[in-house]
Amino acid sequence: MSNRRSFLSQLGLSIIGIGAAGAGRVLLKTKNQAPYKKGLVLSTWSHGIPANAEAMRIIEQGGTAVDAAEMGVRVVEADPEGQSVGIGGLPDRDGKVTLDACIMDSNGNAGSVCFLQDILHPVSVARKVMDETPHVMLSGEGAKRFALDQGFELTDLLTERSKKAWEDWLKEAQYKPIINIENHDTIGLLTLDKAGNIAGACTTSGLAFKMHGRVGDSPVIGAGLFVDNEIGGATATGMGEAVLKTLGSFLIVELMRQGYSPQEACEEGVRRIVAQGNYKDIQIGYLAMNKQGEVGAYALHPGFNYAEARPGMNRMVDSPSFL
Ligand code: ASP
Repeated sequence: MSNRRSFLSQLGLSIIGIGAAGAGRVLLKTKNQAPYKKGLVLSTWSHGIPANAEAMRIIEQGGTAVDAAEMGVRVVEADPEGQSVGIGGLPDRDGKVTLDACIMDSNGNAGSVCFLQDILHPVSVARKVMDETPHVMLSGEGAKRFALDQGFELTDLLTERSKKAWEDWLKEAQYKPIINIENHDTIGLLTLDKAGNIAGACTTSGLAFKMHGRVGDSPVIGAGLFVDNEIGGATATGMGEAVLKTLGSFLIVELMRQGYSPQEACEEGVRRIVAQGNYKDIQIGYLAMNKQGEVGAYALHPGFNYAEARPGMNRMVDSPSFL
């Protein structure tokens, strides 16, 4: 397949669709394949503004997409005021802050950690899994032991504010996540560097007051994040279970490979969740870029927004939504 793709791109052609009606028939269309090389960073929610600023600083200095992605989301992981990522994240039902994160570089390499406790920068542990081990994903105690072996330090991630929120929740202990309202929001960040290479990272404390041991979409390659440097990247936020069941980020990148724009691909990703039913009480937001620097975003409900940075610009954009 990759030979066929390189052959097509040498010809300046790309596959734009293989529909059910045209099964077996490949439609070809001339398309400008030149990658965007000015620098582009996209990330979910308003904490994306400081994250994008850091990622863009690295890109403007000639840094790689993967370094920019890691350093960008670290800004949010380290902010104790944010209650959805890293330190200060809302804990699970048992009062434990458990973190999920992953990273993908421009060569198709990936690293991930899930159900990780007491470590400030899960994305950097995921990076070490990618760079230093033959594995993709480490979980729980094993991930923590690996982090400590790699020189990461133990950090108490439960802030007074998040502990108080948990104690308040315990009074009723109702498991009813309302994602936009709780502002319980993952950061998924995509980067396109000045060499025209794409990478991404995704990090979260997951759903507030989740069951102990619950892992969401964010650390799962293909669900919370997927990058293919020939095509583009996608990331997800919202109710992870729905993203996992449709492998949303992988789906969006594959649709872009078939010729969908990032916007069309995000819309189709959301439609797959709608098609599964039970979508009215959950929020999902998808964000994507392609190699040409085009952007797409789509959510189930209004309220999802994202930060977009290009040289000299870093702004919030409201995503369109299905409902
Ligand atoms: N996707 C995350 C999860 O399910 C939560 C979020 O993005 O708000 O863990």
